[in-house]
Amino acid sequence: MDWATGNYLLEVTYQQNGKTLRQSAVIRLRDAKFDTETLTISQQKQQEGATDTTALLRENRLLGAAFRERKNGSYVTGAFGHPLRNTQAPITSPYGVQRHYRDQAGRPLYSWSHRGMDFAAKRRTPVYAVQNGVISVAEMMQVNGGIIVLDHGQGVMSIYSHLDALLVQKNQYVTKNALIAYSGNTGQSTGPHLHFGLSVHNVRVNPQEWLGKKW
Ligand SMILES: [Zn+2]
Repeated sequence: MDWATGNYLLEVTYQQNGKTLRQSAVIRLRDAKFDTETLTISQQKQQEGATDTTALLRENRLLGAAFRERKNGSYVTGAFGHPLRNTQAPITSPYGVQRHYRDQAGRPLYSWSHRGMDFAAKRRTPVYAVQNGVISVAEMMQVNGGIIVLDHGQGVMSIYSHLDALLVQKNQYVTKNALIAYSGNTGQSTGPHLHFGLSVHNVRVNPQEWLGKKW
């Protein structure tokens, strides 16, 4: 979402029968026209430290290290599943929305882009692994709330946050559709929901494109 519109050259280099081959294509990036929304953080959430930018920096460092990890193998088999049993759960905030946060008095706190999608889910709704993988992060954090990062190999990871309870531990192998957590309203969140994201080679992409597709 951070790239300017225009033409980009995509080059892929690969090995075949002992030879190095290269293919290229011109990719046209068009304007995605992301929406804007203003969110109010309650005084209680601020007092709990859910808007603490020092804590956020610390959390981003830890998560960044996890996102940069790259396993050679892949755990992926078949299509990606849905993180909720109700696959028709309404999307309350899609990927790419430009968010402006304010405190209860209306004073601006900070702004950033939404790097995942939010599903409506009442507190303690079961959350499922969308694909086989190894748990890379499973922690209760101050700003991200309860968060799980699931590593599917080859630099592809799914992210689940603002969770109420974590049912898995770091380095645990889980299969697709395994119950891994209960959704919640923890950390910097303005209501119960499930935040779901996907990281590909340390870029948070639109997870909606990965749901229900064959790979
Ligand atoms: Zn979200």
